[in-house]
Amino acid sequence: MNKDELKKYVCDYLDKHSSELIENGEKLLRMPELSYKEFETSAFVGEIFAALGLKEKTNLAITGRRADIDTGRKGPKVAVLGELDGLIVPNHKFVNPETHAAHGCGHHAALNAMLGCAKVLALPEVLKNLSGSLAFIATPSEECQNLPYIASLIDDGRLKFFGGKSELIAEGVFDDVDIALMAHAGTENFTVSGFNGFVMKRLVFKGKSAHAGAYPDLGVNAVSMMRAAMMLLDSQRDTFKDEDHVRIHGYIPYGGEAVNVVPDKTVFTLQVRGASPLAVEDASNKVDRCVRGAVTAFGGAAEVQNIFGFMPLINYPELDEIHRLNVGIIAPGVPFKTGIYRPSSTDMGDVSMLKPSLHLYFRGFEGTAHTDGFLVKDKKQAYVDSAKMLALNVIDLLYDDASCGSMIAELPIPMSKEKYLEQMQSFSSVIKFE
Ligand SMILES: [Zn+2]
Repeated sequence: MNKDELKKYVCDYLDKHSSELIENGEKLLRMPELSYKEFETSAFVGEIFAALGLKEKTNLAITGRRADIDTGRKGPKVAVLGELDGLIVPNHKFVNPETHAAHGCGHHAALNAMLGCAKVLALPEVLKNLSGSLAFIATPSEECQNLPYIASLIDDGRLKFFGGKSELIAEGVFDDVDIALMAHAGTENFTVSGFNGFVMKRLVFKGKSAHAGAYPDLGVNAVSMMRAAMMLLDSQRDTFKDEDHVRIHGYIPYGGEAVNVVPDKTVFTLQVRGASPLAVEDASNKVDRCVRGAVTAFGGAAEVQNIFGFMPLINYPELDEIHRLNVGIIAPGVPFKTGIYRPSSTDMGDVSMLKPSLHLYFRGFEGTAHTDGFLVKDKKQAYVDSAKMLALNVIDLLYDDASCGSMIAELPIPMSKEKYLEQMQSFSSVIKFE
């Protein structure tokens, strides 16, 4: 088969099996699970890999798994990723009433796309046209829900990182991968030019309790100290560069317990996002300085706990262009957007720091991600066309002795794994101000 015939064969095959793909996607929708607890979802993936006769590695970053296919011919290894986890959306139509987990980000459809891609590329008549090899990787904990639970896993030494892909990178699961592809659910077909990275920070302000009515002069008000730190930070917002896309947002999980006691402790959890590791570091340092300033002004104390972070997502235009052309095959005439910047974050950013990566969006949903309105609107687009997109992109990379894939595998990447792990350490540290 020439390349166009092969692509047509793959699309026709997936169309022929669309009822099975839709059924699997709808099953995954109904088993939402939270970070590092995706046991049922992971087992479902394992059953499909087994039915395809693929050899697997399991228990990667607790619930992750990986199945490989080798063509036996020289060429790069292309990883196709699918995320296992849901997130907490209590009012979602398909919520788990006990855990409040739901697929409010559409990971079930994207995971299903990865499984559909594996199904069609594992066919001998397809595989014989390709070179190099494939790794299908099911990844846990993209949403990092239930932070105390994940922190307990880290304390127990079962994990190093909150993000599933960070953990898989640390475990060496991506060491032999040359290119990484992943699909994400959306309301239209598009690619993004980048995502923000972030560091998650927990600021603990420590004051001194006193009678709030009679003797406030004897206390140090931790809430006032926190407000002062936030004011100092707010007044520096104009120093963030537009191109750095800095976003700082958070909530107050603890602010004292009694109205007539000067609060001696308050906790502010915030996420500091930026378009580059440097931008994140700069904004994070400003937060720390503002905390120090408030501590000095009030004569209190504070602890800045840097908990974890993700890297910004780097865009590889060569991969985007391959994808754009394939969207034209799958959805001819449908507008395709590219060059959008997303100030949100994904741990696919971490992978993109180390490997040429594509993080594509497929249509088929309605509503806004992370809300109860984010639902499948068109099952064929969400569950079948999404699989085609991944499969056709792989064909472009591995057809013709994998010449295109070999070229893309050589593209420059921002950092080595060593540098990456070092950078990740800076996302977990404690600074004390007295
Ligand atoms: Zn999400």
